[in-house]
Amino acid sequence: MNRGPFFVLQAAYGLVVGLLTTLKYFFSKKATIDYPRVPYRHAERFRGVHELRRYDDGLERCIGCELCAVACPANAITVIGAENDPHAPVSPGERYGYRYEIDMLRCIFCGFCEEACPTDAIVLTPRFDIADFTRDRLIFGKDKLLVRDPLTQHRANTESAAETEPGVVPPAPATPPPPTAVPSQPTGAS
Ligand code: SF4
Ligand code: SF4
Repeated sequence: MNRGPFFVLQAAYGLVVGLLTTLKYFFSKKATIDYPRVPYRHAERFRGVHELRRYDDGLERCIGCELCAVACPANAITVIGAENDPHAPVSPGERYGYRYEIDMLRCIFCGFCEEACPTDAIVLTPRFDIADFTRDRLIFGKDKLLVRDPLTQHRANTESAAETEPGVVPPAPATPPPPTAVPSQPTGAS
């Protein structure tokens, strides 16, 4: 079928416009990034995965008061406090967080827990990549939340995910806190 010169011109015009569009974006700044090799930088106020912090001497900041659990609108936090052993305290107060869990599937990352905490123990970091294959593994306990090295914990709130290495457990401190004795009479659960 002979479609005539108009059809040829129309096809050529479309081809040229397409190539020009390709050329235009080929040399402009890319809208995508090579994640995860290139980390995504969120806004400074971005709230991501939580972190349970320590004091510089290694003692845990959490005193098991459960205020964060009470403030949580999603009922995502479970705290069970226990009395500190005076000879091997886990935290500076009388009590510490014997069990601390956050259900990341429930969490809406509102930051209310961070605001409610009287000791700045729980903070939200810029980390965001927490995808996993089972629900159980998205309930983060102290093994995932508690920082090992108190000297690096502040980085989480001040630097991007590039520096905090999501999912990587920092090395243990040179002088770890005394081992936790068998807790005496855990009290109360949220
Ligand atoms: S960020 Fe909000 S929803 Fe998530 S655990 Fe804290 S208080 Fe609950
Ligand atoms: S994280 Fe803070 S608010 Fe929550 S139980 Fe520990 S000390 Fe209390």
